[in-house]
Amino acid sequence: MNIAFVDLKAQDAEVRREVEEGWRSILDRTAFVLGDEVRAFEEAFADFSGVAHCIGVANGTDALELALRSVDVGPGDEVIVPANTFIASALAVSRVGARPVLVDCADDHLIDVDQIEARLTERTKAIMPVHLYGQMAPMRGILEIAERHGLVVVEDAAQSQGASQDGTGSGGLGKVAGTSFYPGKNLGAYGDAGAVLTNDPDVAQRVQALRNYGSEIKYHHPVTGFNSRLDTLQAVVLSAKLRRLADWNDRRRSSAARYTELLAGVDGVETPTTVAGNEHVWHLYVVRLADQETRDRAITELGAAGVGVGIHYPVPIHLQGAFEHLGHGHGDFPATERAAETMLSLPMHPHLTTEQQEYVVARLAAVVR
Ligand SMILES: *Cc1c(COP(=O)(O)O)cnc(C)c1O
Repeated sequence: MNIAFVDLKAQDAEVRREVEEGWRSILDRTAFVLGDEVRAFEEAFADFSGVAHCIGVANGTDALELALRSVDVGPGDEVIVPANTFIASALAVSRVGARPVLVDCADDHLIDVDQIEARLTERTKAIMPVHLYGQMAPMRGILEIAERHGLVVVEDAAQSQGASQDGTGSGGLGKVAGTSFYPGKNLGAYGDAGAVLTNDPDVAQRVQALRNYGSEIKYHHPVTGFNSRLDTLQAVVLSAKLRRLADWNDRRRSSAARYTELLAGVDGVETPTTVAGNEHVWHLYVVRLADQETRDRAITELGAAGVGVGIHYPVPIHLQGAFEHLGHGHGDFPATERAAETMLSLPMHPHLTTEQQEYVVARLAAVVR
């Protein structure tokens, strides 16, 4: 058996006709930059997310960078970022000239809210919660801390398209959010793409200008901008997939429930938990094994059995060369380090079958036995 970690071919098969028609129309009109397709997708994705404004940009890292710039985070500022996240969360902070200040994760792998306040200084300007693996970080506690200390909340919503907390969609609780449409995300393009989400019309207007050379009126550039637009061809792909995203997220939820049920009888495999009030969209299904030796053996043996698995993420932010200047070392964020040693992401996508899941669990059970 061969079980892909992510099955992009099955997604493509569902949307291929719409994509080809949309692309042909763009080619016929040679309308390659911005235009109706981008606007239509932005409106549809804002609607889907329950957020007032969506601005399409070139990728998720740019989305986070422009989100930070739109609320004036810059040199001399500090931004709270989880130590357990993809590198791009912290890179966006570096790129605006600010300093990422890391916080360890809790048992659920999300930022540990109880450790945030100890890391605040008079330079702290923002908190960047990351809605990791498809569920939102505990926003109530984060928003309370932000309110108490006058901080702005910039959400990293790259892994949480369609997720919500107590009824509010991902990207709608902070001041501004960045998301990514990298091909493997829950909503993925056929290349790089991303978006900024916000309920604040002024922030939206700033991001509109920032992504387009700092210009609102052609050839007038009151601020230093960038070229970071959502590609028009990608907007067609994203609109076609967005129409199926609620269904695809439902299917991911069913698959996650099935994994948890199948793994209930397997000693030595800790299944993921969901924060109270969260509607999870299962970008990743991440289990924990007893120790690093078992986890590494699982990767080898599942790989040999044709099962695609991964680690998200094997090297925490504070142990990356790119962030050596933060001055951290081994032992500084023990929960994140322990997670990096013992976690394992199982195949997760909307087209996973029961039979495939049973096979994955049987192979994993054989490893931990
Ligand atoms: C994918 C991802 C990003 C970056 O998105 P790109 O489109 O690859 O630049 C940022 N943060 C998280 C948590 C991600 O998973």
